[in-house]
Amino acid sequence: MLLRSGRQATIRSPSGTYSFGVGSEPMISVSDILKALDTIPIWKTLKGLPQRLEALEARIAMLERAAKQPLDRSLECPKCGHNPVTVDKVTSDTPFAFAGAKNRHVTCPVCGHKDKLFYDPND
Ligand SMILES: [Zn+2]
Repeated sequence: MLLRSGRQATIRSPSGTYSFGVGSEPMISVSDILKALDTIPIWKTLKGLPQRLEALEARIAMLERAAKQPLDRSLECPKCGHNPVTVDKVTSDTPFAFAGAKNRHVTCPVCGHKDKLFYDPND
């Protein structure tokens, strides 16, 4: 709520009450204040913090889940070493298919590297 009393304007919001002088200028609206804040670089950084925090929380949750699982070395990205890669599909296009060997077609969630990794389910 914006109240004006003489040369003093007051904004009352759930987060607090803010008073400022308005002189003989027209009343300052909240949208004018937000427009003014948008010209300050640090304000743009601050506005982006909730999304960044959410992304970091999701990443931490993913890392905590990964830390609880034992590492399967056959699911390591050959390019960046991230483990595990995402298995897109499993095929039998290997000369050792007669013995049950397969190829895992994988994508690394970190670097985006795509590869075909030999895999023997009997190991
Ligand atoms: Zn990678």
